[in-house]
Amino acid sequence: CGIVAYIGAKEAYPIVVKGLKRLEYRGYDSAGVALFNNGEINLYKKQGKVSNLEEFAEGRDKSGHIGIGHTRWATHGEPNDVNAHPHLSGDGQIALIHNGIIENYESLKTELESRGHVFKSETDTEVLVHLIEEIQKNQSLSLPEAVRVTLTYVVGAYAIVVMDKNNPRQLIAARKSSPLVIGIGKEDDYYLASDATPIVEYTKNVVYMDDEEIAILDLDSGMKLVDIANQEKTPYIQELELH
Ligand code: GLU
Repeated sequence: CGIVAYIGAKEAYPIVVKGLKRLEYRGYDSAGVALFNNGEINLYKKQGKVSNLEEFAEGRDKSGHIGIGHTRWATHGEPNDVNAHPHLSGDGQIALIHNGIIENYESLKTELESRGHVFKSETDTEVLVHLIEEIQKNQSLSLPEAVRVTLTYVVGAYAIVVMDKNNPRQLIAARKSSPLVIGIGKEDDYYLASDATPIVEYTKNVVYMDDEEIAILDLDSGMKLVDIANQEKTPYIQELELH
């Protein structure tokens, strides 16, 4: 139900958790984060309040300059720790958060299971991260390309953010029918959130993503937007009015 993500020079965890709290008004039943640090993804997720997640993460490694966070409003699969987002690919390389509903998840899941994928959760969301993994391996695609091709198979509504252990200087985001805003930071860093409230305190330069648009946020090459047919798009950068 709520998405917050960060990539840049700052510590991601405090930004992500503070942002998730700003999105609490949207309602949710569980919360989780994935943080990239020292070649590993640390994944913490808990049913209940963001404060439960904070308690759980207490004393654990929360460092890292790339983080994705999610508050879940369950549509498929009961509210519990396993069904909370982020979800990982089978090989644990990719972490993904999702708002919305994947309508054709059952047929995608059946197909993926026949190719050996084992699912941990009951969510519709988990098929996305397995499909990205499958397509990336099968077709030797870059992460942004694998995300784009995956979305051509998907029916439904989504705002997603994807991070990959093998591309630790990149976040990929996409949306259709669920909102997603990019904040362009002042220090060559990027924020992502379901609405601008988690972003305003850091930057007023934002891009409201369009349907079927994919954003590649790369610490080396900057921001790039493409549509689902792989046409490059010019980002329309808006200035938030701060009161
Ligand atoms: N359909 C997904 C799930 O049930 C995402 C729900 C949401 O938007 O929070 O896990």
